[in-house]
Amino acid sequence: MILETFPVGLLQCNCSVLGDPATKEAIVVDPGGDVEKVLAALARHGLRCRAILNTHTHIDHVGANDALRQATGAEVMLHAADLPLYDNLRIQSEWMGGMLPPPPRSPVDQELDHGDVVRAGGLAAEVLHTPGHTPGSLCFHVPGAEPLLLSGDTLFAGSIGRTDLWGGDYEQELASIRNRLLALEPHTRVIPGHGPQTTLERERRSNPFLVGL
Ligand SMILES: [Zn+2]
Ligand SMILES: [Zn+2]
Repeated sequence: MILETFPVGLLQCNCSVLGDPATKEAIVVDPGGDVEKVLAALARHGLRCRAILNTHTHIDHVGANDALRQATGAEVMLHAADLPLYDNLRIQSEWMGGMLPPPPRSPVDQELDHGDVVRAGGLAAEVLHTPGHTPGSLCFHVPGAEPLLLSGDTLFAGSIGRTDLWGGDYEQELASIRNRLLALEPHTRVIPGHGPQTTLERERRSNPFLVGL
C-alpha cells in the first residue's frame, strides 16, 4: 500500500493519502485546508483519488473537501450525525475567532456508518463509528499484516479528543475507544488527526485517559 501522511492547514490536521500501487486508485482521509498539498501527493505517486473520507466534520478536517472533489471527481463520505457541524462551517469559523475562514461546503456523496467498507482498487478501509469527540466521529481501519488505524480526533498519542465542543460526550468517547479501538490488534499502527503516530499497544500502556478501560 502507498501511504503518505502530512499536516495540512493552520491547525496541522494530519491528512493521509492511501493508494493501491497496482490500480493507482486512492483514498484521501481528512484533506484539511490545503488542496494543493493533497494534489501534489496524489501526483507524486500517480494516484487517482476515488474517495474523500472525513473522520469528522470539524472545520480543520474538511476545508479542502470541495476543492479536492472538484479537482478529482472523488466522492465525499462522512457520517450523517456530523451533518449539523458540516452545515454550519461559518459558525465553526466563529468559534475560532475567524482564524480559519469558512470553506465551501461540498455535497455529501455517501453517508458512512459502522461496518461499511470503502474500497479503492485492492484497498479496503473499514468504517468504525466512534462517537464522543463529535456525534459522527469515525475511525478507519485498514486490516492486514501491518494493520493501520486512522483515529481522527478520537485518539491521540498520549491523549484523547476534546469533548467540550458541540455534540461532544466524554463517556461516549471512552466507550468508543474501549469497545471499538482497543478491540483491534495491539500492534495496530495509529495515525491520529493531529500530532505524532503511535500504536494501540503503546496507548493502552501509557495513555492516562485509557487507564482502567
Ligand atoms: Zn475535531
Ligand atoms: Zn482536529
